[in-house]
Order: sequence, then C-alpha cells, then structure tokens
Amino acid sequence: MLKIAVSACLLGEPIRYDKTGQRDRFITDKLGKYASFIPFCPEHLAFGTPRETIRIVLDNERKKVITVFSKNDVTQAMNDAIAHELHNIQSEEICGIILKSKSPSCGLGSTKYYSGEMSEGKKDGLFALTCKEHFVDFPIEEEARLIDPWLRENFVMQLFAYHDAMRLQKKIKTMQELVAFHTAYKFLLQSKHETNYRLLGKIVANHDKRTLQEITQEYIALFKKTIATKGSISKTVNVLQHLVGFFKKELEGNEKRELHLQIEEFRDEIIPLIAVMSTIEFLAKKYNTTYLLGQKFLNPYPKDLSLRSFIQEGK
Ligand code: SF4
Repeated sequence: MLKIAVSACLLGEPIRYDKTGQRDRFITDKLGKYASFIPFCPEHLAFGTPRETIRIVLDNERKKVITVFSKNDVTQAMNDAIAHELHNIQSEEICGIILKSKSPSCGLGSTKYYSGEMSEGKKDGLFALTCKEHFVDFPIEEEARLIDPWLRENFVMQLFAYHDAMRLQKKIKTMQELVAFHTAYKFLLQSKHETNYRLLGKIVANHDKRTLQEITQEYIALFKKTIATKGSISKTVNVLQHLVGFFKKELEGNEKRELHLQIEEFRDEIIPLIAVMSTIEFLAKKYNTTYLLGQKFLNPYPKDLSLRSFIQEGK
C-alpha cells in the first residue's frame, strides 16, 4: 500500500480557518483504495481551529505571515509548525504529497503573495515551498491541478513508479533484481525521457563492474528524475510504434492495420490511450508475448483508476 502525505482538509477534516473541511473524492475514494494517508495541517498546529485568516506579505524579499484583520506578525509560530509537520512526514515512508490549492501554507504555485495590501502574484505556499526543498524529484501536486486529466495521469503514474523504486531500494539483493526492474519499466521510461532511458540502460549494464549498492543508488536517483518528467502524445506514440515492432511477425494483416489505425487515432486525439492499450494487451495475450505483458507501460497503476480513458489525458 502506498503512503501519501495529504493536506488534512482534503481528507475532509474540519480543520480550515472556519472549521470546515474540503474533502476531495478522487483522493479519499479512488486513491484511498490503494493508499493510506498521513495528514498534515501547519495552520491548525500553529493557531488552532477556528482561527483568523493569514496571508503572506513580502517585506524586502522576506516572507512574513500576517493575520488579515488584527495585522499580527505570526511568522515564527508558522515556521515552527512547518518544521514540525515536515519532520512528521519525513519520518514516514511516503511516496507522494498532495497539497490544498490557494492556501498560504499549502498552495503549489496558487498562493497569493502581498506587498502591503497589493497583490504580488501567485507563488508557492510556505509549507509547499518547504516540501519542494526537502523532497526533490518527488511526486508533489495540489488537488486543483489534479482535475486536469493529463496532470492527474502523470502524477498517479509517478506515485506508483516511485513507490516501486522505494520497495526495490529497500529489498534489493542481486543484480538480477535490478535488471528485472529496468526491463519491466523500459517502455514507460522511454515514454518519459529517451536520453535518460538510455542512460539507465547503461547503468544497469554495469560495464565498470561497480558494486550493487553503487549501481542501485545511481539508478534509483536517475529513475526518480525520469519518472518526474511529464509524458506527451508524441513520446507515447513513438513508444507505441516501438511496441508494435514486437508483434510485426506474428500479427495478421488486419490486426497490424487496426493497431496502426488506433495509434493514429490516439495521436489525433480521436480515441483515448486505453483503447490502444487494450488492443495491444489483447494481442500480447493472443500471441503470448510475455515480454510485453510484463511492461509497466501497459499497466502502470490499477486499472480501475481509469486515468487513460479521457481524450484530454494526452498533451
Ligand atoms: S490548506 Fe493546509 S493549512 Fe489550510 S486547512 Fe488545509 S491543511 Fe490546513
């Protein structure tokens, strides 16, 4: 089971300034089938609930936290609570963080900054900023961005891949395990970043005969960076055509034509990716192509999350 740190209000906890929650059904009902959640709320910890609203005010580049009505400077209390919540989530084996948009603490690029009473544009909330500094190449998103099917698919794919990498790093004992891991992730990595995919292949080949520990460390670091890259329709089409190459000899003429037609329709945003993937999986089973059936690219996360069923999932 995955462990994800989540803004407590998104889990429905009545912990916002006005004692309400803002439950996100995708997180609690869909991801909740496969993940346990580590809730955090720096504002509740610092000021209790209900509380006066706060805003971030820039003072010569310094970020101050000021209460909106009483104009008190509560920066220190906020920083202490952030450090405490950071320590809490760092002590858990989390594979992702989901933040609540627009909040002075949790917004990811959606938090309003002020200079006096004037708006200074939108940036990261203070806790989001701290998370980004401490969790590099890590799955971090805010719930409002996850409404976009493309971002949601990329994020969930990254979550599950990151979790797999954590498990591998923990239990790996032999080089064969690393090779098997890379083999299963080949096409998915290629669909993210062609150059990194090739570099990862070179690391696994281990021509310099380095130790398993050294190789694994280098591999996992680049793997995490690669899966943090967003996919695109053109990169996915490229990998799909590559996949078809594995069938070339076995496929009957009409099967080959149908598959190429489906790939073109996916590229032209007429059909969703799931349609092409289902056909490939059906044919891989028909011709017993075990190498393809074991590819994470075909099933990177549980099917019932149905993230590849939207035309808008590709960009
Ligand atoms: S957005 Fe963050 S700080 Fe605000 S209530 Fe939710 S968890 Fe707490």
